[in-house]
Amino acid sequence: MVKVKCSSCREEHPNFMGIDATETHDISGSRGEANLVWRCQLCKKENNINFDDSFKRASAAYTLEDAEEQRWGTLAVLECRGCEIIDFDPQGTWTCKGAQSNTPFEEVELSKEEAEWNDYDEKAGEGVSIMELETRIQRA
Ligand SMILES: [Zn+2]
Repeated sequence: MVKVKCSSCREEHPNFMGIDATETHDISGSRGEANLVWRCQLCKKENNINFDDSFKRASAAYTLEDAEEQRWGTLAVLECRGCEIIDFDPQGTWTCKGAQSNTPFEEVELSKEEAEWNDYDEKAGEGVSIMELETRIQRA
């Protein structure tokens, strides 16, 4: 979920909007499509955002090593036309796997307010968790 701001008039969209790499929407007045198409409520300009195909989503995993080294991971690379992303909410269902056990966890619910997750890894015989989740938006 992203919050966006119109580059033309600087108006911020009041709500978070979902962007899904598996969904495309028509761009008005062209044959193009984008993963997110939205119209600015103030200047009425239509803007869009696309996942950058050069970025391989399959490699977008955040690892235990990343966490231990306190490194940022890249979850997505987005190309914004006519707008910019000003906030990100990880709201939705994520998948994880145990760092050593490889136990899959398919229903990891996260959000800005609930940026923590706890479960128990039967195979490893220990608790697993996501804590102190932080996100940032980096401009190219
Ligand atoms: Zn606008």
